[in-house]
Amino acid sequence: MKRLLNILAIPALLFLLSACNTEPSASNTSTFDDSIAPIGLLGDLSEPLYYDIDLTVDPRADEFYGTVALSFRLNRPSEHFWLHGNNLQVERVELINGEQSYTATYEQVLASGVAKIGFPTKLEAGDYQVVIHYRAAFDLNLSGLFKVEEQGLNYALAKSESVQARKFLPGFDEPGLKAPFEFTLTVPADMHAITNTPEASVIQLDNGMKQVTYLPTPAMPTYLLSLAVGPFDRVEGPTIPANEFRENNIPLVGYARAGRGAELDYILSITPEFVAIFERELESPYPFRKLDIIAAPAWPSGATELSAAITYRESRILLGPNPAPQARLGLLSIHAHELAHMWFGNLVTPTWWDDLWLKEGFSSWMEPVAMAEFEPKAGHEIGTTVDGLRAMSLDSLASTRAIREPIDRNEDIRNAYDAITYAKSTGVIHMMDSYFGPELFRPALGRYVARFAEGRADAAEFYDEIATQSGEPRLVAAFRSFVEQPGLPQIDTQVSCANDQVTVNIQQQRYAPPGSEINTQAQQWDIPMCFTDANGHQHCDILSQKTTSWQWEGTCPAWVFPNANGAGYYRFNTNSTNWSALIANFSDFSAPEAMVLIDSGFAAYGQETLSAEALKSLVEASTKSNNRHVVAAAISRLRNLLAVSDDASKVRLASWANALYSPLLETWAQGSDEDSMILTNQLRSSLAQHFDNLELRAELAQQAASFTGYMGGSSDSSALTTDEYQMALTVAVEDLGDDFSNHLLSFADNFDDSRFRAAAVTALSASTSAEFVTTQHTFVLAAATESREAWSMIAGAMSVPELRADHWHFVQNNFEAISKKIPAQWRRRMPLLGTDFCSASENAALQALFNEYGELTPGYERALAQTSERISLCEAAKPSANAFANQLTP
Ligand SMILES: [Zn+2]
Repeated sequence: MKRLLNILAIPALLFLLSACNTEPSASNTSTFDDSIAPIGLLGDLSEPLYYDIDLTVDPRADEFYGTVALSFRLNRPSEHFWLHGNNLQVERVELINGEQSYTATYEQVLASGVAKIGFPTKLEAGDYQVVIHYRAAFDLNLSGLFKVEEQGLNYALAKSESVQARKFLPGFDEPGLKAPFEFTLTVPADMHAITNTPEASVIQLDNGMKQVTYLPTPAMPTYLLSLAVGPFDRVEGPTIPANEFRENNIPLVGYARAGRGAELDYILSITPEFVAIFERELESPYPFRKLDIIAAPAWPSGATELSAAITYRESRILLGPNPAPQARLGLLSIHAHELAHMWFGNLVTPTWWDDLWLKEGFSSWMEPVAMAEFEPKAGHEIGTTVDGLRAMSLDSLASTRAIREPIDRNEDIRNAYDAITYAKSTGVIHMMDSYFGPELFRPALGRYVARFAEGRADAAEFYDEIATQSGEPRLVAAFRSFVEQPGLPQIDTQVSCANDQVTVNIQQQRYAPPGSEINTQAQQWDIPMCFTDANGHQHCDILSQKTTSWQWEGTCPAWVFPNANGAGYYRFNTNSTNWSALIANFSDFSAPEAMVLIDSGFAAYGQETLSAEALKSLVEASTKSNNRHVVAAAISRLRNLLAVSDDASKVRLASWANALYSPLLETWAQGSDEDSMILTNQLRSSLAQHFDNLELRAELAQQAASFTGYMGGSSDSSALTTDEYQMALTVAVEDLGDDFSNHLLSFADNFDDSRFRAAAVTALSASTSAEFVTTQHTFVLAAATESREAWSMIAGAMSVPELRADHWHFVQNNFEAISKKIPAQWRRRMPLLGTDFCSASENAALQALFNEYGELTPGYERALAQTSERISLCEAAKPSANAFANQLTP
């Protein structure tokens, strides 16, 4: 039954009330106009106190229904309040005021899911309850409460983040508006039903259903709500034992779709240790009473940190007995990320989406930190450098975002989920942690978590707390200069030495690639920097002016390296003597240093401050590294050059790279450790797919043929590891033609492995056969095609140069159908279909398409601006790519 307002007396609410500081106030000081439907923040007219939810969820049906009794506080006298609800069929709303019950009205007023509840009369400020009776159809595109069918069985799952809870629940769908939730679910008796808290009781009903009630949650935001109902396998994991931070054991349970439960063994086995690592790092107990790991048969992102019910796309965490190394490492990193969220986001929640970085940045940064603690000798620490460098491509654009910038409307929220929020934040946090020292930074971070536990915090509160706890105000100044400004600093360092005195003249500016419209002189950062020299001297300071000069005594060193340990989030340039010395002594540098050297070297080449010859030496030097990330860093940048080269240059560059990397493949292929196996795969993939190694192509196509039993052979499941699926299937589709492609289509339909399935769809998108185009387009729009696969097919197809014009016509003529077919939260990214365009005319066509149809893909403006800028920069990058190829001996 619905509880009335006496529920407000329960102790769970006490911290909520204090955390939100919410005495009813009749003040006129609000900056919100209560009469206007809010397009972003809901405002402070009202706030949630408690949700009592009773839903019937049968995944075999087309819709779900029930009631929510929502207790709320009205802060000012009003005839209405605003909340969220999107495409809900609301049948009746009761307003409860003390002992009295009245009929209220409900109306959705904005397409983004803003609704108004109207009262029969003006109410005074105070606490009330509305009981909303509603129903809604299950979503079929992985958003809100959606439904999927796998192997003939139906599952229903809720994907609430960011603003999709409003598709299955009327409420305050805003991260800072936390409240407790209490669920009662009526579900088929033979199915499992999972939500954020343990079951309190189960009643068997006589209609084949059961009614499950759950314990109330602590105060939480709607975006972390979990609801999963289906014929899952349920697997008990090892208990997470009590420790110095926590008195109670935590029960650990895994759920996977029917028949796949055994593949949860690995993730369940490592979870107790990972939880303990975070508790030690943050000196803070795991904050929930249970932990469920759900392998969802379909999920729009890799995973979502639903409180105590972390939900993953099954391909990210289901592992067989001998997992391939990339699959295993991928599991470790995504699991570390999601577990970190239990503190960053779930325990301390950002007030609004402009501070998404406070949960995503810190969780991303903690991935390698926790992995390094879990496997101390594996070199996982380098992940922070890899991430920081990865962000620099997007951060080089004039149209990039700052880590934190205003978000005024619902349609713009998802745009914050980009490499800037995740990877740049990681690089920036790593820089602060390195410069100020983990012994200062991490305890301050732990105390920030403790201070705002169970509540919410924004950036200002984060900075205040970090400054207080670390006693280091410069830390905050540096943080803010990187978080609040877009773009990437470039440090110019002119090194000279005479009479045993080293002088480095330093100047900062914003990095701009060739052809960019960025004003490089308009910004300035507080940059924590450390330089080292060949004699072992280290010089550190925070560069807070435009220019400075550093000097130190000592014998003139062979080189000065302007980014010690690769810890700084910036690119550098230097004088040619120092460049030559850095490249000549490449083997002196640690792996993170070697990676930033490669990154800055390629950037300097583009800016014509490093010669083609020097860049070639740098690449050659990188092949001698014994770290796979260093070797791979140079390869990925060579592939960027290749992508924009003209045809003759492509042939030259590919053949040079083939000669350079083929011997390296032979060496690395002899290793049996995970690093060797991963680099071997990366080398094979690059050599076969980009550097024209025909022998390898034949080998890969043969592996794919054996695995799938092509040409009448029987299927040999040992012919490919999961890490090899993608490259082998792609090469086979390209080289064996339509006959293989059609064979793969039917094989994938009958082979129940989600990793294989995803690889097969991407491989089929790469077909270069004009005869296969119709099959691809039919696949994209077919009702039976899963929405993520529809996107993979068309996005992959758009990267095939020979057939791009055909695919583009298809996109132009079927824009609306495609936009409705792909996952809802990806629609705003549709401009990315133009990513591989490289001419002004294609750029104009892309703009024209979105001018006409953009309103079908709300929030597209950011992706369009960035794609369009990349297309312009692509043209500008051609001359230097061709010049690099031209120096190479044919
Ligand atoms: Zn995350």
